[in-house]
Amino acid sequence: MLRAGKHRNIMGQAVAVDLGATRTRVAIIGEEGQIGERREARTPAKESDPSRLAGFLSALISEVRAGHQEESLSGIGLSVAGPVDIIRGVLVNPPNMAFRDVPLREELSRIFHCPVRMVNDCHAGVLGEMHYGKGQGKQDVVYVTISTGIGGGVISGGRLLLGRKGNAAEIGHFLVDNTYDLPCSCGHRGHWEGYASGRFLPWFFAEWCRFHAKPHWGPDTAEEIFASARQGDDDVLRFFRELSRINARGISDVIVAYDPEIIILDGAVMQSNADLLLPDMREFIDRFLPLPEIVLSELGGDAPLLGAAVITGGYETGFGDFRSAG
Ligand SMILES: [Zn+2]
Repeated sequence: MLRAGKHRNIMGQAVAVDLGATRTRVAIIGEEGQIGERREARTPAKESDPSRLAGFLSALISEVRAGHQEESLSGIGLSVAGPVDIIRGVLVNPPNMAFRDVPLREELSRIFHCPVRMVNDCHAGVLGEMHYGKGQGKQDVVYVTISTGIGGGVISGGRLLLGRKGNAAEIGHFLVDNTYDLPCSCGHRGHWEGYASGRFLPWFFAEWCRFHAKPHWGPDTAEEIFASARQGDDDVLRFFRELSRINARGISDVIVAYDPEIIILDGAVMQSNADLLLPDMREFIDRFLPLPEIVLSELGGDAPLLGAAVITGGYETGFGDFRSAG
């Protein structure tokens, strides 16, 4: 049975780690979800030596623990950019990092002598929302992040949808287009992430300009494209209609796949530009199933960090049976 709000009942200190492709955040999280001492640093994404990644994380964990070391550690929760293998506690093959098959759970539990549990960052995001955010009290929730990449986490009937090794709901790889045929970080074509994520948006814009024989002035970043939309650039605004169709295609697929009562949107690209992205997207969503509530996360980007804290108390969060992973 789903329980919301204060939930973890653990002795000692819980440390949460949100290991992203660009930034890594580490914090001590209290039982009510209050964030204590925290550190943030650039992820050494170009390093390929796995022991360096474990060393980088253990240094940050030791920093947040400094001054609180008399308290025992109840556990470390890791939210990591997928794919993951939560059965073995291994970071498998993150597309935006140079690491391969990093046995993070083993390394960190050897250093800190406490349980270490790993979860895909979007699964952490939906857990954070269920305990402390807009998912509280609900049973069927999808968390969608549009950031450097695009990902999803699903609670269905009060249970976290994990999949075989913790990679269910990789919605960024839903097929959303066959007109522009753009490549994705996974190597395949036509995927949502290859169009609407922060990393790929400039490529989509360039291809859209080429396709429609528009002059392409070569913005390097998604931020530059959003800035020119705000200045009223007609072509960019026309491009945004197409972008909204792509986002609506992805959200329509989310709705028919999971039939959620609420979709919680997060991620820097979405959070900073919801005024530009949401109205048209809503218009283009298929109305085959009833439209769920669609809201922005109000956890200030900390949903994955809070979700990482949730799993320090065990994988049995009240959302379901986590097999032998815990
Ligand atoms: Zn893909």
